[in-house]
Amino acid sequence: MAQYFKQHKPNSKVLILDANENIQSKGKLFTAAWQTNYPGMVEYRPNHRVVAVDARNKTLHFEFENPITADVLNVLPEMSGGLLAVESGLANLNKRWAEVHYQTFESVLAEHVFIVGDTVQGAPKMPKSGHMANSQAKVAAAAIVSQLAGLAPNRQPVTNNTCYSYVNAEQAIHVASVHQYNAEQATFLPVEGAGGLSETPSTLEGNYAWGWAQSMWADMLV
Ligand SMILES: Cc1cc2nc3c(=O)[nH]c(=O)nc-3n(C[C@H](O)[C@H](O)[C@H](O)COP(=O)(O)OP(=O)(O)OC[C@H]3O[C@@H](n4cnc5c(N)ncnc54)[C@H](O)[C@@H]3O)c2cc1C
Repeated sequence: MAQYFKQHKPNSKVLILDANENIQSKGKLFTAAWQTNYPGMVEYRPNHRVVAVDARNKTLHFEFENPITADVLNVLPEMSGGLLAVESGLANLNKRWAEVHYQTFESVLAEHVFIVGDTVQGAPKMPKSGHMANSQAKVAAAAIVSQLAGLAPNRQPVTNNTCYSYVNAEQAIHVASVHQYNAEQATFLPVEGAGGLSETPSTLEGNYAWGWAQSMWADMLV
């Protein structure tokens, strides 16, 4: 949006109102990119928990802060697993997230039901992302094949994540991590030294981001 406004409506303001205490991913990189690319246009305000949306008057009401009115509101509801998982009871943690056996992603509540993606209660430092959902699905698919063949599942499955963010039309930043199943703790743990974070936005990463998208779509949709 900021990229568009910069070109077509340069007097616009983009307010990012977050219920969190700070930016949860790539914080320093985003802050620097906003200052460099959109000085005075993008403003991040933490601790803004929305409690009501007045659509008619385009106004947001917050737990503590004063209401804010804007021309366009893009409101993200509180995250939770899909309705199907919540209503079926599979999302058994706070009626939001589903507990699974991490080695296979089989539900702890329902045999032969496998759950991947955002609905899964994340293992330590395991992010919710499209890349991670894809990676979990491969572990689950292999586990299903093993189950059908009467074999034991992989003892040490690995999942990974890469999340690119464009900061303008050409440049991107990324965060990446690798997670390996630990049988003793029955969960995935981050692999020390694997993964990482961009030092700075770059056009090279912009190209990588586009390549990532192409390969992800080819993997899942074609
Ligand atoms: C702004 C934004 C940016 C993001 N950027 C990235 C990124 O750069 N990289 C990355 O890896 N991830 C990114 N993510 C996260 C990523 O989009 C999610 O983690 C991912 O889509 C989760 O996949 P999922 O399959 O678990 O859920 P979803 O993608 O939500 O898919 C669930 C599907 O189930 C369907 N469904 C629901 N109920 C039913 C039903 N009863 N019957 C049939 N179908 C049903 C829904 O319509 C939906 O299509 C981003 C997310 C957001 C919001």
